[in-house]
Amino acid sequence: MHHFEPKDGVLHAEGVSLETLADEVGTPVYVYSTATLKRHYGLLRAAADAHRDALGEALIAFAVKANSNLSVLATLARMGSGADTVSEGEIRRALAAGIPAERIIFSGVGKTDVELAFAIAVGVRQINIESGAELDRLIQVAALLDASPAVAVRVNPNIGAGGHAKITTGGKGDKFGVPVDEALELYARASASPHVTPVGLACHIGSQITDLAPLEAAFRVLAEMTLTLRGQGCAVTRLDLGGGLGVPYAGGAAPPSPADYVAMAARVLAGLEVEAAFEPGRLLAANAGVLLSQVIQVTERSDGRRFLVLDAAMNDLMRPALYDAFHDIVPVRPRSGARRPHDVVGPVCETGDTFARDRDLPVLEAEDLVVFTGAGAYGAVMASEYNSRPLVPEVLVDGDRWAVIRPRPTYEEMLDREPFADWL
Ligand SMILES: *Cc1c(COP(=O)(O)O)cnc(C)c1O
Repeated sequence: MHHFEPKDGVLHAEGVSLETLADEVGTPVYVYSTATLKRHYGLLRAAADAHRDALGEALIAFAVKANSNLSVLATLARMGSGADTVSEGEIRRALAAGIPAERIIFSGVGKTDVELAFAIAVGVRQINIESGAELDRLIQVAALLDASPAVAVRVNPNIGAGGHAKITTGGKGDKFGVPVDEALELYARASASPHVTPVGLACHIGSQITDLAPLEAAFRVLAEMTLTLRGQGCAVTRLDLGGGLGVPYAGGAAPPSPADYVAMAARVLAGLEVEAAFEPGRLLAANAGVLLSQVIQVTERSDGRRFLVLDAAMNDLMRPALYDAFHDIVPVRPRSGARRPHDVVGPVCETGDTFARDRDLPVLEAEDLVVFTGAGAYGAVMASEYNSRPLVPEVLVDGDRWAVIRPRPTYEEMLDREPFADWL
């Protein structure tokens, strides 16, 4: 469900025409829908609230890496969202957007001492530990600050899942988390230290998961470990279930509903009397955003191959080049008539700058507008200025109003960021 629909023959984001936005802001540009963000958060919140008996006052911590724009974070913050963060920069963004520290989780496989000290100083809710070496460093850092931050041990349950090998994180060979036996040992070690307070376990096995079975298997591992740890006299009050639930990208597998996902979690955690946390990224943001782009030209080769050359490129939306990801491509003015196979490409000088091959699309012309749907997560956050293309801007729509929430830098701004070495 999203709020990008045609009105009077023109695709709109809620009440705002995408043609208007293209005229006013230029293309390419990301456009986000407030109503869609709120709807997705609200569905998950309602599902969690319906299972308070099993999940406690569950925290929904938006995975900031999926979309870290301050206005997007502030929209979710006002609905009560927390944040799952993986760097000091993300913690700073979450705080700046109004997410209180007590709703911020700090995850990630390579937190520096400086970042750990920052997280302790601002008082984040919980630091998720991913290795014994990291636990040792955290204890040292916390001792210097005379603190005892809450920690969860991130378990690698040896259950990998996800839409692509590069977004699978829970397999034995993946760099994330600690194997079960080692996690139990780490937890006991953490319990013995005055400078960390172990509160629970965490897992996150992958992204764009479209089947509940691997998630359920991972949650069961956490539930069993909870009982084992309690049997050893350790307190376990929180289970962080990670993110990873997939979204419908047109043409792909249909994922389970958030309600079914939360109900499954409640079934597995029933009776444990823990407080659950969910860390959705894609689920909240993917279908709340589109990348709006203009056709530069249509090239037809003598062998019949048709190329749709857009003004958006792999530097603006990396997912197809990085993960072979599928994004539906929809004309802003729906066109009837025959559809033809097109290779949809950007102007960057790499063959990888291909969004789709042999995609059936209506016949378009130069200056037509199209959108990539499902681009609100892992889109703008991964954008770069490769090929010296100014960083892609972002717009937030709310009903009939809209705002540029990250402007496109001018060429002057882009060049001014680089001082010449003083000997040149
Ligand atoms: C990336 C990530 C998430 C969010 O994943 P989605 O697939 O976007 O829901 C949640 N938790 C952790 C630890 C992550 O690294």
